[in-house]
Amino acid sequence: MRDIAIVAALFLVTIMSSTSYAQKIVIAHRGASGYLPEHTLEAKAMAYAQGAHYIEQDLVMTRDDELIVLHDITLDRTTDVDEKFPDRARRDGRYYAIDFTLEEIRTLNATEGFRIENGEKIQGFSQRFPLGKSRFRVPTFQDEIEMIQGLNLSTGRDIGIYPEIKQPAFHRQEGKDISTRVADVLKEYGYTSKGSKVFLQTFDYEELALIQKEIFPSVGIEVNLIMLLGNRTDYPWMFEPDGMSKLAYSADGIGPSYNLVVDRASEAGDIRISELVTQAHGAGLAVHPYTFRADPEAVPDYAASFEELLDIHYFQADVDGVFTDFPDRAVQFLQSQ
Ligand code: CA
Repeated sequence: MRDIAIVAALFLVTIMSSTSYAQKIVIAHRGASGYLPEHTLEAKAMAYAQGAHYIEQDLVMTRDDELIVLHDITLDRTTDVDEKFPDRARRDGRYYAIDFTLEEIRTLNATEGFRIENGEKIQGFSQRFPLGKSRFRVPTFQDEIEMIQGLNLSTGRDIGIYPEIKQPAFHRQEGKDISTRVADVLKEYGYTSKGSKVFLQTFDYEELALIQKEIFPSVGIEVNLIMLLGNRTDYPWMFEPDGMSKLAYSADGIGPSYNLVVDRASEAGDIRISELVTQAHGAGLAVHPYTFRADPEAVPDYAASFEELLDIHYFQADVDGVFTDFPDRAVQFLQSQ
């Protein structure tokens, strides 16, 4: 009898561990942005087809209070705004999305990200989709939710959204409460509880706490919140031994730079994993580090390949999901385990 119990227990452990592998997720960072211009609906459709579990939206507001899917608060890096509206830059030379109406933004061509060097546009990742080719648009949050929910209907799958509130303090300075607007749209589209397929993320802890304490209750929703962490210096208390348990009062998970999970100074055979994942898991927080890129120059020296980089994080550091520009590669990696 006792043997049967042991066998049953072992069997259960096996099932549970394979289940937890299966639960590890792939988050398409700005869509399948390794292949198509970031944050275009085309990049999102590709990520969906590649099997991503969640698709990310960065959100900023327009002058007429619409939410658009754009990584920067400015339009400079990923559109032709400088050609279409040359006289609309602020004194710092930047074109802020918040100074344009949605109708104006809808006239812009979206493109692979670029910088200007000696008056010339140079794309950020040289081997990605060519700059200025074909025609892409800047979508609204609603455009994108409707596409993902539409695909969920037509394919029978249940893929989630992973919106980020960009620079909420900047939006407040400009007189806009972006978080309430985002919460309203989430509610409108049925994302209302922690069981809903959504993680809402921000780098701003004060805003995160406000969302959890005031904005969600006033809008009447309560969805999963992710605290993004870029370094150890913005909120040093989070890296104290009790930091993650304090954060757990406001957040359901963290989205750290992956350099905070595995020390950049690691070498092959000497992978240095920080305490962060253990501490976060101990506090009941999910861990979704960013950003995993397969471009030749983007894989750190301690990993021999992109897949080894994924293995180190998913299985040695035990993170629950990763943000990646190459969702197909991460999905195939998890399926091969
Ligand atoms: Ca983001």
